[in-house]
Amino acid sequence: MRKKLIAGNWKMNKTFSESYDLILNLKKLISPEVLNKVDVLICPPFVNLNAANDILENSGISTGGQNVHYKDEGAFTGEISAKMLKSVGCNYVIIGHSERRQYFFETNDIINLKIKKALENELIPILCVGETLEQREANIHIKIVDEQVTLCLKGLSDEEIRKIVIAYEPVWAIGTGKTASREQANEMHILIRKSVSNLFANEIANNIIILYGGSMNDKNSKELLFMSDIDGGLIGGASLIAESFVNIVNSAI
Ligand code: PEP
Repeated sequence: MRKKLIAGNWKMNKTFSESYDLILNLKKLISPEVLNKVDVLICPPFVNLNAANDILENSGISTGGQNVHYKDEGAFTGEISAKMLKSVGCNYVIIGHSERRQYFFETNDIINLKIKKALENELIPILCVGETLEQREANIHIKIVDEQVTLCLKGLSDEEIRKIVIAYEPVWAIGTGKTASREQANEMHILIRKSVSNLFANEIANNIIILYGGSMNDKNSKELLFMSDIDGGLIGGASLIAESFVNIVNSAI
């Protein structure tokens, strides 16, 4: 049985005090009963992670980074290591988000290195995959996503792959207000599971958590979250408003 995961990707939003208020609200509004049934994660900007973990200690709400470097430490100005994320109490890290691929030129090979480094440091990687509008219109979206899954997961052991979360995020649906239909999303999730089963045992593919991301909000979450192969959501815009995010979390039960 796959437990649902609702993850908030705050991107480059919220000052320290704004983060503080939002996290306090989430802690107040998400009940322990709900947290028994659904995993909840927030990924604020790096500078707010330490405080976030202080506020959320023993709350059952997890935190994660939005990115990580693939080296342990050194002269990489502006970067953050997996060990640093772990040291402030993070359990997860988003890797290979389409905005990182698009604006920071992250390739599948780099993402593969980042996943390995995260796992070495006991962080759960959330690997993001998804096609652009041009790729979908050219009908190569299945090939593109299969290639992303195959290259990004290359060389992982059975034990490592069991810890991974995948997020299917069609680039054309991110921040655009355009959501994939539940059938379109579910079809891609089934194909991603198939890509995983080409690399690992069926049992592993059947148990891997696959999130949908792309303009999910509290109006459309329920219909997406109850499709056969959608195990949760990676939520951008709607995770910045406490009530919306909490409604999405509640809709996962
Ligand atoms: C995201 O950033 O991962 C995302 C899905 O954003 P949004 O929900 O705003 O489309």
